[in-house]
Amino acid sequence: NFRCRSAFKLLEIDDKFRLLQPGFSVVDCGAAPGAWSQVAVQRVNSAGTGERTDPALPRGTVVGIDLLYIPPLDGAHFLSSQDVTDPSTHAKLLELLPNRQAHVMLSDMAPNASGFRDMDHEKLITMCLSLIDLAEKVLQPQGSLLCKYWDGILTRRLQEKLSSVFGGVRTLKPQASRKDSAERYFLATMYRKPMK
Ligand code: SAM
Repeated sequence: NFRCRSAFKLLEIDDKFRLLQPGFSVVDCGAAPGAWSQVAVQRVNSAGTGERTDPALPRGTVVGIDLLYIPPLDGAHFLSSQDVTDPSTHAKLLELLPNRQAHVMLSDMAPNASGFRDMDHEKLITMCLSLIDLAEKVLQPQGSLLCKYWDGILTRRLQEKLSSVFGGVRTLKPQASRKDSAERYFLATMYRKPMK
């Protein structure tokens, strides 16, 4: 049982692109109430109770972050009441990741919608851009980033920024996402860590 229907979007994307492999470390940004983290725990085998129960499968790591409280989940570490865009959160996150690195960053973050479409779009794009800074701190070379956005005038700017540091960037609209919503996902793969 998933905590939220959003799980089906991640399952659909992961079934197709195989982002989440056993043993991987995953950061789930905007994780409350925890449905994506539930999917990630299963797929990276962080609780050791995945769909495949081969004891030889490597154990992964899942760290979820949200401004809200995230109820506990076996196999996940949660940073509740924390802002993903705040550098003090980044320090806590790094301590929870093996080798201080993640294979995959997920973001289903969304601001509280004001109802003004352009404003909400701009806010969410700004949040997505901050994920590119977070990637520089935590994402390992060749890693992937999956992030939700609301389509609008700044979409292309985000896509260009992603393309400047990732080898591949695709736009996804999962079946499980309402047809009439502006919701989309960017799947950015093959991260190239900028030289310091
Ligand atoms: N993927 C989640 C799941 O499957 O359970 C649902 C995520 S919900 C659509 C979006 C979440 O983003 C909200 O819980 C919200 O609190 C969180 N959020 C928005 N801005 C944030 C920020 N700056 N830092 C952390 N979380 C944030």
